[in-house]
Amino acid sequence: MQKVYKMNLQESFQKLSNSSKYKFEEICCYLCGSKEATFLLMGEEDLTGKEGEFHYVTCDKCGLTYQNPRVSMDDIKYFYDSEYIAHRKKKNWGFLTPLYENAMNKHDREKEKIVSRFVEISEETKVLDVGCAVGTFLLHLKDKFNCSISGVDFKEDLEYPRFSEIDFHCGLFYEQEKLEKDSFDLITMWHFLEHCYDPTESIKKAAELIKDEGRVVIEVPRLDSLSYKMFKRKWPGVQAPQHTVLFDKEHLVEMLEKNGLEVEEYLPYGAFPSYFYLFAGSYFKILGKGLNLDKIIVPYFFFQLLLWPILLFEKKLNLAMQTVVCKKQL
Ligand SMILES: [Zn+2]
Repeated sequence: MQKVYKMNLQESFQKLSNSSKYKFEEICCYLCGSKEATFLLMGEEDLTGKEGEFHYVTCDKCGLTYQNPRVSMDDIKYFYDSEYIAHRKKKNWGFLTPLYENAMNKHDREKEKIVSRFVEISEETKVLDVGCAVGTFLLHLKDKFNCSISGVDFKEDLEYPRFSEIDFHCGLFYEQEKLEKDSFDLITMWHFLEHCYDPTESIKKAAELIKDEGRVVIEVPRLDSLSYKMFKRKWPGVQAPQHTVLFDKEHLVEMLEKNGLEVEEYLPYGAFPSYFYLFAGSYFKILGKGLNLDKIIVPYFFFQLLLWPILLFEKKLNLAMQTVVCKKQL
């Protein structure tokens, strides 16, 4: 019976338009190591509109959802172009520019709000942001608290004003050797883990680097959320093929606790605005792939204003995001 399952999976993968265009690798479940899985959905790069179809499966043994076969690490780089990373570039949208700037800065302020509930940040605090991109969150913390800031990202040649103020380590997080064990008070992973090619190794690494009394804060999109139910394969959280794993609450917590972290608090929201998922999901479903910010900026803010009464309750509605605050397992 299991053999039949496997063949169906292969067959459905072969049907994808690009099954031979990229290098794909078949993998085992990140959580339990099983190879048996069932097709869940075909994902696309709806955000930029790049070509391709990608295969997501649910593990028959433990129920984790992940991309399989996944795009090889060499080929995935093509999907992380500078446009993706430098989304903080200054833009000119006339009277909307201050609104946009404010929204971008608000994202870093929301991150600060979450972490400062659990860690008292001061000049002595050592912060590590994993998947830091151009480092605006770290620089925001440094400006406010004068704490020491380190960052890791696999993207090379990042450029941004004051980027040199970050103790930056380029490459895969779990391969970093220069970061000292038990040395950080706060490690953050904002939308990093769902992109990771070895999430269990990354969790173990965070558990190794965090101090006994420190905190690891992890935000990822939430599969068992309202927006996924609304949009299914057009859910912005699929973001294929960059997203390697799609976590629901149960499997996120299970993976963290299996790999050296203890969950102190679970939040059914994040610093990232759920509204973006409601807007982008509706767009992908109705209008299709490729979200051109220049064209949608006016409707984006208009609908945000309209939905304002609902968004007021964002933290209670389980719309799209989840954040976990963890300690090292002692
Ligand atoms: Zn599994």
